[in-house]
Amino acid sequence: MNETPQVVTIAGSDSGGGAGMQADLKTFQARHAFGMNIVIALTAQNTLGVQESYPIPPAFIDAQFASLAADFQIRAAKTGMLADREHVACVVKNLQAVDFGPLVVDPVMIAKGGHPLLEADAITSIRTELLPLATIVTPNIPEAEVLADCEIHTEADMMKAAKMIQQFGVKHVIIKGGHQVGEQARDYVLFASGESKWLSGPRIETQNTHGTGDTFSACIAAELAKGTPLEEAILIGKQFIQGAIEQGIAVGHGHGPTNHWA
Ligand code: PLP
Repeated sequence: MNETPQVVTIAGSDSGGGAGMQADLKTFQARHAFGMNIVIALTAQNTLGVQESYPIPPAFIDAQFASLAADFQIRAAKTGMLADREHVACVVKNLQAVDFGPLVVDPVMIAKGGHPLLEADAITSIRTELLPLATIVTPNIPEAEVLADCEIHTEADMMKAAKMIQQFGVKHVIIKGGHQVGEQARDYVLFASGESKWLSGPRIETQNTHGTGDTFSACIAAELAKGTPLEEAILIGKQFIQGAIEQGIAVGHGHGPTNHWA
């Protein structure tokens, strides 16, 4: 019998179920991979925004890593909300001690409602400690601007920023174009080889976009756990997130979640 693909998310919990590790686990399920979670922070959250967050003590993060490493054959991992510098350092230390396979880093910084999910002083740790461990990093445009410390106004700026981010030691970079204006959402992918490509999809007008970035990066991680080659995993991720946005769920009074069973 073939081994069941096993994948873990190292992320924050969204009590509203639409983003964070809940979106990741729903995506893993939809992609037919067995999902696990290492919780970095809890949030009290709904479709209107994040009301409170509560980082988990690092010793308990160590315990979660130890539990999973002792029992499962994890073939890919992703990171999401990492809260602050202390938690990034804790995750880096643990990732260096285990073999969880390819790592997808979603450099989550601020929730749509404006609540910070990463303290500003953790950016240097993400660049210098976490990115060298990563197979691929998946920033949106505002996150790419912070990582590369530049402004992005044009597609040429996106290409330049991807190159700067790659210099931190991550193999592949995808800058998501969802925050651009225009009829197309164009993502720029820069591969380790130096080759690059643009992915285009129609911009979908909807307010149900909560958890979009989490879902996209989780889909790539699930595919990598299944052994799908990276380039194909990215295309599947793009297709999956497009469907998940098109069929977003109108629950709550704010930004409803993307749809993982679409
Ligand atoms: N809450 C948590 C715990 C997250 O990890 C993320 C991921 O980006 C978000 C919220 C973001 O939600 P939104 O898509 O509304 O920006």
